[in-house]
Amino acid sequence: MAKKPMANVNGDSSDKNKGSMLGKKIKAAILVEQKKPLVVADITLPEKLDYGQVLVKIHYTGICGSQLNEIDGVKGPDKFLPHLLGHEGGGVVEEIGPGVTVVKPGDHVVMHWRKGNGIHAATPKYKWEDKNHGTRVVNAGWVTTFSEYAVISENRLTPIPKDYDLKIAPLYGCALTTAFGVINNNAKLKTGESILIFGTGGVGNAVVFMASLASANPIIAVDINDFKLANAKKHGATHIINSKREDAAKKVLEMFPSGVDVAVDTTGINEIRELAYELTSAEGITVLVGVPKHGDKMCIDSFPLHFYKKITGSHGGESMPSRDIPRLIRLHQVKKYDLNGMISHYFLLDKINEAIALVRTGNAIRCIIKMV
Ligand SMILES: [Zn+2]
Repeated sequence: MAKKPMANVNGDSSDKNKGSMLGKKIKAAILVEQKKPLVVADITLPEKLDYGQVLVKIHYTGICGSQLNEIDGVKGPDKFLPHLLGHEGGGVVEEIGPGVTVVKPGDHVVMHWRKGNGIHAATPKYKWEDKNHGTRVVNAGWVTTFSEYAVISENRLTPIPKDYDLKIAPLYGCALTTAFGVINNNAKLKTGESILIFGTGGVGNAVVFMASLASANPIIAVDINDFKLANAKKHGATHIINSKREDAAKKVLEMFPSGVDVAVDTTGINEIRELAYELTSAEGITVLVGVPKHGDKMCIDSFPLHFYKKITGSHGGESMPSRDIPRLIRLHQVKKYDLNGMISHYFLLDKINEAIALVRTGNAIRCIIKMV
C-alpha cells in the first residue's frame, strides 16, 4: 500500500517535516485527571523521532481492564498526568527513527505492551494547547494507542502480514497473547487436563479460547454476567457457572472432588483468588492473572505447596510477542481457530468515554476504537 501522509491537514506544517505527520496535530484521548472521563483533544506529535522510535498510524485499538485501572488510579496517585493510554492496537508504520530494523514504513503492525524484539526507546512527549491551562506536555509510555498516530518504541511492535485483518490485530496486543502465555507458559497445560477459569471478560474469555485450542477438558468458566458466560461457551467453555445464582465451589467439587488441574483467576478479587487456589488439585496449579487492589493480601493454606501444588502470578502470560504473535496468526490463517464474537463493539475515538462506560458494565467482550 502506498504511503499517504496527511500533509497540511491542520495547516501547520513546517518545511522541516514536509510530507510528514511529525510536528502535526492529531486527535487523542488524554487522561487528565484520575477517576474522570478522558479528554478528547488535538495534541501535537513530537518534531522528530529519537533512536528506536516509530511513528505509527493507528487504525484500531482495544480497551482493556488495565486502562480502567489507570483511570481509576488503582495503583495510587499518577505522577505522569496528563498522559496518553492504550496498549493494544493495529496500525501501519509511517516513519522510523534511527536504529530501527524490526519494522519499516508501510508495515502493518500489532502494538503490544510486552517487550518484543528491537530497541527499548525513550518515551515520547506530546504538546497540548489546553484551553484552561495553556501549553502542556502530555506524557506517554513506550506504547499508547488512544490516538490517531503515536510514537511507539520499536520493541512494542510486531509486523504482521499485510493481508491480515487489522480490525482484529488489537486482540494480539494483549488478550490473546496473555491467554496463550497463561496456558502454555504459566499453567503448562497438557492435552486433556481440566481447567477452571474465574472471570470471562476480555482476558478470561481468551483464556477459555486458548484452553480450548490446547484441548483442555473440561473447561469450566465462572462469572456473574450471563452475556460473558454465553460468549465463553461460544469460545470453548464446556461448563458455565453463574456464581450469582449457583455455588461455584460446590458445582466444581461435584465434578472434581479433589480439585482441577489448572485454576485461573482473571478477576483480581481476593476471595476469588483464594477460592481458585482451594479448588486446585494437590498436584495442580493456580495462575493469578487479574491484578489485585493495592495492598490486598491473600490468605491460603500453604501446606500443599511443600508437595506438588503450585501457585503463580502471571505477567501477561510471560508471552514473547515477536515469537508468539506470528505463531498465533499462522494458526488463524490455516483456520485452526476463529475469532468471531471476540470483538463485541466498535466505537469512534470521539465516543471513547461511552466505550469505557460500556466496558465497565461488563456487557462487552472487547470494545474496539476505530480510528480510520
Ligand atoms: Zn490489556
